[in-house]
Amino acid sequence: MEINGTAAASAAVGEPDFLAALANIVGEKWLVTTAADAEPFLVDWRGLFRGQAVAVVRPKTTAEVASVVRTCHQYRLPVVPQGGNTGLVGGAVPDADGAAVLIHLGRMNQIRAVDAANYTISVEAGCILQTVQEAAAQAGRLFPLSLGAEGSCQIGGNIATNAGGMRALRYGIMRDLVLGLEVVLADGTVWNGLKRLRKNNVGYDLKQLFIGSEGTLGVITAAVLKLFPAPKQRTTALIAVRDVPAAIALLSSLREASGDEVDACELMPRASVDLALKHISHARDPLDEACEDYLLVELASARESVSLQDLLEGVLGEAFEDGRVTNAVIAANETQASEIWLLREAIVEAQRLEAPHLKLDVSVPVSDLPLFLAAAKAGVEAIDPALRCIAFGHVGDGNVHFNVLPPEDGDIAADSNLSKRVVSAVYDTVMAFDGSISAEHGIGQLKREDLARYQPGVEAKLMGLIKQAMDPDRLMNPGKLLT
Ligand SMILES: Cc1cc2nc3c(=O)[nH]c(=O)nc-3n(C[C@H](O)[C@H](O)[C@H](O)COP(=O)(O)OP(=O)(O)OC[C@H]3O[C@@H](n4cnc5c(N)ncnc54)[C@H](O)[C@@H]3O)c2cc1C
Repeated sequence: MEINGTAAASAAVGEPDFLAALANIVGEKWLVTTAADAEPFLVDWRGLFRGQAVAVVRPKTTAEVASVVRTCHQYRLPVVPQGGNTGLVGGAVPDADGAAVLIHLGRMNQIRAVDAANYTISVEAGCILQTVQEAAAQAGRLFPLSLGAEGSCQIGGNIATNAGGMRALRYGIMRDLVLGLEVVLADGTVWNGLKRLRKNNVGYDLKQLFIGSEGTLGVITAAVLKLFPAPKQRTTALIAVRDVPAAIALLSSLREASGDEVDACELMPRASVDLALKHISHARDPLDEACEDYLLVELASARESVSLQDLLEGVLGEAFEDGRVTNAVIAANETQASEIWLLREAIVEAQRLEAPHLKLDVSVPVSDLPLFLAAAKAGVEAIDPALRCIAFGHVGDGNVHFNVLPPEDGDIAADSNLSKRVVSAVYDTVMAFDGSISAEHGIGQLKREDLARYQPGVEAKLMGLIKQAMDPDRLMNPGKLLT
């Protein structure tokens, strides 16, 4: 059996029964063993990581996932769970040795129940995030997780990566949004922890072990998620701010004035807006003059009694007077709001088109952001003043995408020594501010060595003990997260 033109692992080649057993569980049709059919599952979203597998299996039910994992355990074959394959750290593709079985969750896509009165939704792991948002909306509720890949990523992947996104500032990250989980453990045992409870005080919170575990402890098959009242009004603005401290102060004013109804707060330095305007034809700057830093702010409320637009205008008026804000546009309708969001979303693609660059997704306490950004930039410029630092993103929750682009005619990606020095300069600064080297994408293959370098020894030891206890044969997603 070959996938991707490479002989499959010797264990499987010597065991024709193994593939027959898998086919027996999921049906021939859902066992992918040809190179062409397996290709999309074996390369990650950005094309940075390519792996090989004995087979790609596409189960439909929890019982089928359990049987597949049990069979892999019996044959001592590694298991790689995969959702939408939109992860940015190479976590969902197998390594190159071709021994793994890739379990794709996409057929487990049932919304099991929406409980509007309990403000919960019970879903299978393969549900696309956008489908879950839509099912909640149909019941007059909000599922708040929102990110650029929401049309492709799956709830299981969101949970396994502890996804964050645009609204984490108000509603928290995936870790805050999960009430219950169902997981197939490394030996094929099913743990049914699908509680729909806000209060459940019976010792260790086991579901939290699987949230952010990147497939290294088990395969998530279903979840109970929190819902919220659906917003009845939404106001979006693009605001030119004097500088980053002014942006952080403005965020505080908005949170206070609105009773914490700020849904999103995204920083966009001028350099990022310029790249968006240069490379993305439909991106547009709605403000008449350029300034150094911008905030995209969105307020949303389930109340109709308060006008968010009036509230925003009031706060902006005060900020104009004390000089924190120099210009602003409040979207008059949904089309204008979409244009503002489009400018924000264009930044990612524009940087890709500009040049291969380093993407460092980090977080520090919100109050430390101004000092951190200045220190990290100084650290990079001390290595080469021509390097271009572009820090943008979810500053409302302290998370910035600190990207480093080469000079106009340079190539930072091709110079591994330079890249390593730049990454160290930024991460050392992150640690000096007691921050995190991975704010939202996880560790995967990409940041494994960085985690080993920066994680305190006690933490690394505890994680190793948990892995040893739950997956002693180290079959669950090997080569990811842990060294
Ligand atoms: C355009 C774009 C924008 C993005 N924006 C954000 C953002 O704002 N915030 C953010 O947090 N991320 C963002 N991401 C990254 C990515 O979308 C998230 O990490 C997402 O949660 C991954 O979900 P997925 O289903 O694609 O998972 P995959 O990529 O398939 O898998 C990711 C990891 O989870 C594991 N896994 C997947 N499913 C399961 C399961 N059922 N059980 C156990 N383990 C599993 C995999 O083994 C792998 O380690 C973005 C990605 C893109 C391409």
